[in-house]
Amino acid sequence: MVSLDPGAVVDLHTHSTHSDGTEPPGTVVRRAAEAGIGVVALTDHDVATGWAEADAAGRVAGVLVVPGIEVSCSWRGISVHLLAYLPDPRDEALVEELAASRGSRDSRLRVMVERMAADGYPVSYDELVALAEEGATLGRPHLADLLVRRGIFPHRDAAFQDVLSSRSPYYVTHAAPDPVRATELVVAAGGVAVMAHPFAGRRGRTVEDDVVAQMTDAGLAGLEVDHRDHGPEERSHAAALAGRLGLLRTGSSDYHGAGKPNRLGENTTAPEVLEQLLERASGTALLGAVSG
Ligand code: AMP
Ligand code: FE
Ligand code: FE
Ligand code: ZN
Repeated sequence: MVSLDPGAVVDLHTHSTHSDGTEPPGTVVRRAAEAGIGVVALTDHDVATGWAEADAAGRVAGVLVVPGIEVSCSWRGISVHLLAYLPDPRDEALVEELAASRGSRDSRLRVMVERMAADGYPVSYDELVALAEEGATLGRPHLADLLVRRGIFPHRDAAFQDVLSSRSPYYVTHAAPDPVRATELVVAAGGVAVMAHPFAGRRGRTVEDDVVAQMTDAGLAGLEVDHRDHGPEERSHAAALAGRLGLLRTGSSDYHGAGKPNRLGENTTAPEVLEQLLERASGTALLGAVSG
């Protein structure tokens, strides 16, 4: 069993340049160390390619790195994000599903860019790809970065408030597994599944409690209650639901570097909750040295 310093600061949700964060995995981990964080999970959207760099940086900086993936899901058109900690990154079914999601993300961005270009926006798919790291999971944030570079918006958020909003005529959804199947896949790959920002209404529509109950039947371990996109009512709703369903309560920053105002460690998870999460994982061994 992994035993953690009871005073450790634990941040279980961050992004790097392997998806829509703006800093490489090693930089995210070094910044976590500077911020006094003892345990950080790297959870890029739909990829595990950043794990090795993050882990190596964690060993040097004295931070325990928990490898994770934020799996994109869709429930009847509603976007759901599922955090998967320590799944086997070679699990065939999981690899196949993540590859399909990334492929669909690419084609939907191509359509979004084409629609915008047809309306006179100075954007092209090739420029979009050139601006991201090779192999990164592409998303609307990269298109936002291109629009910022073209001087059309001052920052990502302004683009999201306008042409990139899910209510915009340019918006196109992408295919993704439903969250119950994704939970089953993560558990079958030896991972621990935690639903990210479940009731973050400001991001768009959110699912009803019964979907969370179905995910729980499929093996969901926790709910990310403490997240900046949850207001006080959403936090109390999520906390009460976690209590009713016997789910663990996590909290995290959802750090994206300069892509969002979220600061490392702004929301955290109790070390004893992390211990319970780690006990349920069998897909990947924790590599780094345990801090404390
Ligand atoms: P996508 O998955 O391509 O539909 O884009 C959603 C991603 O955009 C999420 O992972 C968020 O991290 C990011 N995002 C959503 N809203 C904003 C915003 N207002 N500013 C910056 N990034 C955002
Ligand atoms: Fe993101
Ligand atoms: Fe998310
Ligand atoms: Zn995230």
